[in-house]
Amino acid sequence: MSGDAPQYWIGEAAPQPGAALQVAPGVHWLRMPMPLALDHINLWLLADGDGWTAIDSGLPTDATRAAWEQVFVDTLQGRPLRRVLCTHMHPDHVGLAHWLCARFGAELWMTQGEYLSARIMSAGLEPTDPESALAHYRGHGAPDAELAQLSGRGNFYRRMVPQMPVRYRRIVHDEVIRIGDFDWRVIEGAGHSPEHAALWCAQHDLLLSGDMLLPRISTNVSVYPIEPQADALGRYLRALTRFEALAANTRVLPSHGLPFIGVHGRVRQLRVHHAERLAAVVQACSAQPRSAYELLGVLFQRTLDAHQLGFALGEAIAHVHRLHAVGLLARDDDMVGVRRWHAGRVAPGAIRLAAGLDAEV
Ligand SMILES: [Zn+2]
Repeated sequence: MSGDAPQYWIGEAAPQPGAALQVAPGVHWLRMPMPLALDHINLWLLADGDGWTAIDSGLPTDATRAAWEQVFVDTLQGRPLRRVLCTHMHPDHVGLAHWLCARFGAELWMTQGEYLSARIMSAGLEPTDPESALAHYRGHGAPDAELAQLSGRGNFYRRMVPQMPVRYRRIVHDEVIRIGDFDWRVIEGAGHSPEHAALWCAQHDLLLSGDMLLPRISTNVSVYPIEPQADALGRYLRALTRFEALAANTRVLPSHGLPFIGVHGRVRQLRVHHAERLAAVVQACSAQPRSAYELLGVLFQRTLDAHQLGFALGEAIAHVHRLHAVGLLARDDDMVGVRRWHAGRVAPGAIRLAAGLDAEV
């Protein structure tokens, strides 16, 4: 459906690192580089009385610190950063929060689930013990050769988020936060991270969507060893309902990609995308029982590097668990404890319903 495609209301020119582009009164778009396949993150700087509020912080790289230094000189106009509000715990969002807060004496504002998760992992505590992580990935069919890299990802987080502020201001769903002349309402999401905070401003029809709603890529939705039975995709799809309730002309400011209009169409695209993947899983599992690992080739038609493998397997488990939650897949365990899934007869429309779509096209 091309009518669902996002419309880029500012055009396709993003600000250079260190520059700022005003996108609404007092709302400035910053773009920071990332040394990854996803090569940038958008941050937002909001005028806040005699200071500023930053939305998210960037990765702790020299390139991002240098870009921030230029923002301090060119954009802050001598007014300090008073508050850093992080949408969620992922390193590109929270990595420089400590540096920014320490530099300006600014407060960190986050939801509790995101803050505590970041604190735990930044302190070097594995989210779960290595044996449980190994058992989790082995149980989903990962071969021994891949297990070490899959279970050692906690260290990766600590490298990306070496320090977190030791106190914070908790924000909760539906809370209204005054920033400058704008009232922003917290819209909590889940499935991508524990308690993701998006912010919606009714006066200006603006949505700071974080990673919950992106114009081009689909948000990563994974099951992790700390909560091995999670229906993460179910949570994510239910959270999208909150964005469907917003006005059609809402201008979305996402963490990756370009600002866009078309929140309803974009949510529909995402639901269709997940319905197609769920259908592919059901089809593969009706031919023969498969583990989540054995479904990677069905879900991802490309080779996966070490970093991508963990996300991909987490996504595959999330799709299997969504189907299991609605009774479309049943579990078969083989003699060595690998969990495989098989599909029986599927009622028409059942997969669309599992993705939050109407049963009929
Ligand atoms: Zn994220």
